[in-house]
Amino acid sequence: MDTLVITGAQLLGADSADIVVENGVIAEIGTGLSRAGARVIDANGLVALPGLVDLHTHLREPGYEASETILTGTRAAAAGGFTAVFAMPNTSPVADSAGVVEQELALGEAAGYATVQPIGAVTVGQKGERLAELGAMATSRAKVRVFSDDGFCVFDPLIMRRALEYVKSFGGVIAQHAQDPRLTEGAQMNEGVVSAELGLAGWPAVAEESIIARDVLLAEHVGSRLHVCHLSTAGSVDIIRWAKKRGIDVTAEVTPHHLLLTDELVRGYDARYKVNPPLRREEDVLAVREGLADGTIDIVATDHAPHPSENKACEWQAAANGMVGLESALRVVHQSMVQTGLIGWADVARVMSATPARIGLLDGHGTPLEAGQPAQITLYDASREGTFTAADLHGRSRNSPYLGRDLPGRVEWTIHHGVVTVESGAVVEELAAFDAPSDRGSMK
Ligand SMILES: [Zn+2]
Repeated sequence: MDTLVITGAQLLGADSADIVVENGVIAEIGTGLSRAGARVIDANGLVALPGLVDLHTHLREPGYEASETILTGTRAAAAGGFTAVFAMPNTSPVADSAGVVEQELALGEAAGYATVQPIGAVTVGQKGERLAELGAMATSRAKVRVFSDDGFCVFDPLIMRRALEYVKSFGGVIAQHAQDPRLTEGAQMNEGVVSAELGLAGWPAVAEESIIARDVLLAEHVGSRLHVCHLSTAGSVDIIRWAKKRGIDVTAEVTPHHLLLTDELVRGYDARYKVNPPLRREEDVLAVREGLADGTIDIVATDHAPHPSENKACEWQAAANGMVGLESALRVVHQSMVQTGLIGWADVARVMSATPARIGLLDGHGTPLEAGQPAQITLYDASREGTFTAADLHGRSRNSPYLGRDLPGRVEWTIHHGVVTVESGAVVEELAAFDAPSDRGSMK
């Protein structure tokens, strides 16, 4: 493994320093550093962040390899500055057993572009009827700590209660896709002025908010830990704020697209904007931005959801829900949160690296840029202006809502366990052979 000397990087956008990486670990941070024979990376003017961690990625393998594979999805992750992704279990077969999560783990290790931490299904087949073998997944080599039926809501309150109780014994967390299925039957977009004008069936905010309200109360009752996926409405922010004030152990995520895009975009019937939960009103966008800035919302998570073009290049009603988001996430957060002055780069490191790793109990990621820590590093050119294009996409699918849109910045370098996965803005085709220290060896 190369020794790296990164020169002149702005640590969390502040003081410039050199970073020495040896044997996959940050060996030293200071000024005027050098090492004989080291590979030198000129990071002058680049913002240095800890490698990003995504708590909500759909990698589609096993089962839906036409949309994405673990190899292509982790290449997309690296391109976006991510060094670890949590893989949602809505694969085929569903990741509801030790066998499937161990298979995903092994495929991620073989790919090498980012650490893949499987998320286990809450219920068998994500059918919502009976609990999956959470304990078997937790004690497998994949050491699953996050469980979700994402794509579906755990709607039965008794099953939700049992799941929350079960994961307490090993500090796990249930990540809920909050959507009342009855209130959203046939829904095509956010329920509001635009849906009324277009005559499309609406997905009302209350269908999300009522489930979140129920689940924070269940988490309080059981004394367990709840995570809310892709929170999207102003009312949801209020409920989380209330729950945290009450001392309930709840965390919440928002997606980049809910920080930037509104339901006005649906007027063009371009299915790239069809997503679940749907794009909401401008008031909701402003509320989730405020919630992220004040800490009510803990993290940004991509909900990267690749689909082949035939599932998107069709009429609105027939199109699949979902957007790819790994490659664009940091740039969207830069535009919606940093350029607007709502948060700074240290906050970006918190909401896109440290806190997602902490929620998911993933060791070896989300650690500070300090000597002795694993070398998970993202170097970002925040001064660059540009347009997001297909050349920015590195996964197998093209369903990005940002194609043709102005987005600032570019990930210049990504370093995963000391191995360069992105250099000068390009994904490295052949990774240096590396012997990654197991992220799982020391996991609690
Ligand atoms: Zn979801």
